[in-house]
Amino acid sequence: MLKTFVFKFGGASVKDAPSIINLSKILYNRLRNHTIIVISAMGKTTNALESILEKKLAEEDFSWNITKLKNYHLEICADLFEPQHSIFHQVENLFLQLSRDLQQPINPDNYDQFYDQIIAYGELTATRIVQEYLCTQNIFCIWQDARELIHTNADFRFAKVDWEETKRNIKKQLIPILSKYPVVTQGFIGREKQGKTTTLGREGSDFTAAILGACLKSQSVTIWKDVAGVLNADPKRFPNTVKFDELDYQEAAELTYYGASVIHPKTIKPLANQSIPLYVKSFLAPDASGTLIHHVNQSNSIPCIVVKDDQILVSFKVTDFTFIQEAHIHEVYSELERLKLKVNMLQISAISISIVIDKQLFKLEKLVQAMKSKFEIRYNESLQLITVKNHHPKIMAELMERREILMEQVTRSTFQLVSKPL
Ligand code: ASP
Ligand code: MG
Repeated sequence: MLKTFVFKFGGASVKDAPSIINLSKILYNRLRNHTIIVISAMGKTTNALESILEKKLAEEDFSWNITKLKNYHLEICADLFEPQHSIFHQVENLFLQLSRDLQQPINPDNYDQFYDQIIAYGELTATRIVQEYLCTQNIFCIWQDARELIHTNADFRFAKVDWEETKRNIKKQLIPILSKYPVVTQGFIGREKQGKTTTLGREGSDFTAAILGACLKSQSVTIWKDVAGVLNADPKRFPNTVKFDELDYQEAAELTYYGASVIHPKTIKPLANQSIPLYVKSFLAPDASGTLIHHVNQSNSIPCIVVKDDQILVSFKVTDFTFIQEAHIHEVYSELERLKLKVNMLQISAISISIVIDKQLFKLEKLVQAMKSKFEIRYNESLQLITVKNHHPKIMAELMERREILMEQVTRSTFQLVSKPL
């Protein structure tokens, strides 16, 4: 078996020409044989593509948005390549294909599938630019379409990996190339049986790195971020954060479950199963230690705060003077499963079930539509869900100060509240 390494670079690490130059320097010093480099879309490209989709859906003109996004990529290329380099044609071509795909009809029923076909262009373009640039820097590497490797079911936008098929593809397709050259591939995207592009959920490139790491039984997986490692809170929101030098797989998985955005929630499990170490390191300080996620015996007692935005609190109240029973819970959960909505917080009282879910286009409307004959439904949008692990009274008091709290829950180790944003 090859001794492989997986590196993942997110959007912020390829957001402009200096960042890509920085990436090439990180690789230049660290590139061993048998390394696979997973890249996401550049900067805020995925968000920009989402806005294009929203405009398309609203039947508004989005041609200016495409031009702006194309120019953003071309300007980065202008800073990195000689004017006659083929990358300019490659980028033009990708945007031509994107425009062509956007001419297909879109509606609420095919939205998720349409989304995946369009959103993948961010990763496809980014990987072309990075791979071509690395080659100009004498880091000779091969571009690999991740969709030939990562096979999934057809749950568009939240596709589930077909592990057996993916392992076979990696063995057949990737290992022969990887044994000779480093490989650059896209995070986040895969392919279902009919050949359509799928995606693994927003921020899913970390998960791609873990899938590849697990299938290759890699020596390690490294996620390069714009933070020093895994911190106990988001430094953009809280002062005095603490960086973990190491963290147990379980602990890290729990933090991602509550919404810690430093790593995608699905990343940990495939690596933990095979005891593959996961490093989270800063691309701004590549020689600093970062965080090592592996098996740690001692449990962590440092309080961790995770904030999730754009949450919706939905309450289902029984209307027939009965109390909440198992059947009610089952009804609500079956519908949530059908809509692929994950419950971030749950509270049940005598006469109502309250859940907190992420905002997703059309999903709330569909949920209300399906349930309104059985329950009286109320909801509040644009809320924040705050979770504190290893809470203590001072932190709780500080967090609750000045907030309008709609729901809260305390267990011995975890405290959660839902409130309007401050
Ligand atoms: N580009 C995708 C996103 O922004 C995937 C990723 O960055 O991991 O969600
Ligand atoms: Mg990203």
